[in-house]
Amino acid sequence: MAQKDGLTGINNRTHFNTIYNETLTQIIEQKSCISVALFDIDKFKRLNDTYGHLAGDEVIKKVARVTEDHIEQYNGFVCRYGGEEFVAVLPNVHVDDATKIIEELHKKIATSVVEYGGDRIGMNVSIGLTAYPQICDNPYDLLKRADWAMYYAKEHGRGQIKVDGSDVVDVNS
Ligand code: GH3
Ligand code: MG
Ligand code: MG
Repeated sequence: MAQKDGLTGINNRTHFNTIYNETLTQIIEQKSCISVALFDIDKFKRLNDTYGHLAGDEVIKKVARVTEDHIEQYNGFVCRYGGEEFVAVLPNVHVDDATKIIEELHKKIATSVVEYGGDRIGMNVSIGLTAYPQICDNPYDLLKRADWAMYYAKEHGRGQIKVDGSDVVDVNS
């Protein structure tokens, strides 16, 4: 159980790092491809403030469940990367297919509702998507680039997917 996150039951970050690194090694050896999406719940602080921390927990659980169910259909794996941040990995999936898969996931999340204490709570996420080798030629940069793309999506209105590209830059620069 040390592999699973206590709140959501999906992979925790430590276990994710193990399987992610193993997967990268295989992908490089096999000269295959891999797509990585990193996403973060939008305006989650406000959601906690409005509905309470326990309601917020239910929203995190919902996003985790929807994400894992969706991504495992495509032989991918996911983790809770931080408080309200998640990573989805699609080994052997080309960026074009990954874009469709992540668009479907985004629709599912954005139309999800958590019923809590008489409230019906909606949610949305900002998603950064990148892929080796089509977009990102260094497989060890994938998580960093997905993070930058996610920040781009946040900065450009949230609730959307940003596919990594030349307009995505280091958020700290
Ligand atoms: P943005 O759209 O820019 O992502 O805004 P945000 O409010 O989501 O971002 P911010 O990083 O300011 O807030 C994240 C919040 O998530 C702050 C923290 O209290 C909350 N959080 C982190 N982990 C948990 C958790 O396990 N449960 C609950 N209920 N809240 C959590
Ligand atoms: Mg966050
Ligand atoms: Mg957030």
